[in-house]
Amino acid sequence: MEIVLPGSDLRIVPRKIICVGKNYARHAAELNSTVPEEPILFLKPSTALIGPGGTVLLPPQSREVHHEVELVVVIGREGKHIPESEALDYVAGYALGLDMTARDLQQQAREKGYPWTVAKGFDTFAPLGPVVPATAVPDPQRVQLRLRVNDDVRQDGNTADMVFPVARLIAYCSEIFTLQPGDLLFTGTPEGVGPVQDGDVLVAESDVLPALQVTVRRA
Ligand code: MG
Repeated sequence: MEIVLPGSDLRIVPRKIICVGKNYARHAAELNSTVPEEPILFLKPSTALIGPGGTVLLPPQSREVHHEVELVVVIGREGKHIPESEALDYVAGYALGLDMTARDLQQQAREKGYPWTVAKGFDTFAPLGPVVPATAVPDPQRVQLRLRVNDDVRQDGNTADMVFPVARLIAYCSEIFTLQPGDLLFTGTPEGVGPVQDGDVLVAESDVLPALQVTVRRA
């Protein structure tokens, strides 16, 4: 899936989808875990992306796929060793996203000390809402994130509760990866994650970002 980079006519297939684990204390607690001392990063393939109105496919390998509503940062400029004080200058835009997670496979991986790649990386496991220019979000640490499943509110949090704020995450990631235009950063989910079923309609909403609706189907 291509995204249009705000502020340019550039259409890009994101080269990296970087995700942050356990970036909200109450979400870490609901997974019987604690917040990390440094950001926990994992990657999703670009084949996981779907757009608004898309369909999340439940893979036969999992019996428990969870929703995780997140603020997504769209990188606009190439950067490495980005100081935290300049990090937000590298943001082209923001969107709502869903970090779909095969929780049963993730739990098995956690117990064995294996990576989360499979649990997080299935096709359609990265729904992305419409991207708005960074200027539409005056403060990325003041964004309400809400997720409804068939009109039932399941998640209702605020990015003010992030363990590591957006600027810190960008600076941290840039010490590892060269950040490139179109790269996506899923910044972690507030509490309230839970399973989705065949036929569910998921709606992610925010006070400052356009909504994202997807439908869930068995693959
Ligand atoms: Mg997540």
